[in-house]
Amino acid sequence: MIKANNPNLKSWVSVPVNSDFTIQNLPFGVFSVLTDSPRVGIAIGEKILDLKNLFELGYLNDTPFALEDFDYNFLNKMMQHGKMAVRQLRNRISDLLDETNQELQQNTEELNQILFNQSDAKMYLPVNIRDYTDFYSSEQHAYNVGCLFRDPNNALLPNWKHIPVGYHGRSSSIIVSETPIHRPKGQKKPPTAEVPVFGNSNLLDFELETAFITFDANPLGDSISTEEADDYIFGMALFNDWSARDIQGWEYVPLGPFLGKNFASSLSPWIVTLDALEPFRTAGPIQDPKVFPYLEYEGNKHIDINLEVLIQPEGGEEVSVGKSNYKYMYWNMNQQLAHHTVNGCDINNGDCYGSGTISGPKEGMYGSMLEISWKGTKPFPMPDGSERKFINDNDTVIMRGYSEKDGIRVGFGEVSTKVLPAK
Ligand code: MN
Repeated sequence: MIKANNPNLKSWVSVPVNSDFTIQNLPFGVFSVLTDSPRVGIAIGEKILDLKNLFELGYLNDTPFALEDFDYNFLNKMMQHGKMAVRQLRNRISDLLDETNQELQQNTEELNQILFNQSDAKMYLPVNIRDYTDFYSSEQHAYNVGCLFRDPNNALLPNWKHIPVGYHGRSSSIIVSETPIHRPKGQKKPPTAEVPVFGNSNLLDFELETAFITFDANPLGDSISTEEADDYIFGMALFNDWSARDIQGWEYVPLGPFLGKNFASSLSPWIVTLDALEPFRTAGPIQDPKVFPYLEYEGNKHIDINLEVLIQPEGGEEVSVGKSNYKYMYWNMNQQLAHHTVNGCDINNGDCYGSGTISGPKEGMYGSMLEISWKGTKPFPMPDGSERKFINDNDTVIMRGYSEKDGIRVGFGEVSTKVLPAK
């Protein structure tokens, strides 16, 4: 077992009941308080531990890291040290925060320099994302979309159970939680129109996803096996992969997603390490037909992560519109990385990989408004008397997620994005 995952650990930092940020979690993010420069931090309870100042005070001397790894506005420099070094760092932080460890907790003067309130902090996009790939790996989501746009008898396309289908997205428009977006504009062709029209997207949608972030992995020409994949995954975050369904529907033939997708994708600010998620591994579905040998895997490679998406109208309350779970994925991250590299494509430090919309097997477990409102035919009733087929101007879409087992919770916080009217 990874030392920092010990379920018996308790921190001297107060961790409220149902906090996502227990001592068993210790996710990494980039934050600033007041006029300080952005630096690397770790969330614990309602606080952030400042790794830059912790390093300067000499508490991380026995780790392979340097000041510049933490005194930086992205996690990328720290991540360049790789999986084993980050594990060592997380274990060291775990020691320092353990209630039985006196090194730090008695030193009130230093505590003022290294522990800050999350409520006082500004959070930044944690990773300088180099490449972004989005998969399409939830069977229920692919099935629902197939039913909506084709035929329930042939909902899954012939390749779907053979290939973890994906496409290359755009990294420049990946934004951190709390960054508002404007409703996109573009070309669309309503089903009844003979020619396309230009205007605001009327079918703006979220996609409930997770993302994983990689370390430097294989050089160009090499491949990663499903077994090796874990070594190259730094951690996971919540990911709202925004979609303009009307723009997407007109443009996607024959080359796939473009302007209906690349206007924004929202990432939660804390990256939960794959190490911290190990205790929540679970079995995936039986894959039939049998996959090619390069996609076979051993052991439990899926993860039990409860996911929820909520809509908060302007001035109103949050309304839960769907609950799903990452364990419903058909293809796991190991298979996605093995597939992504089977042709020799290289995987680099700071790459971001979206899971694809994660829908569960029943109504109420869907990860997009496209499915929840069944392409607009079943509007979702809101408690304020309004209804939603897709997302309205000034709605805020919030996604939350956490794993929990034997009373230990490891959570992601949230990714929250407000939609402003078109510019
Ligand atoms: Mn997506």
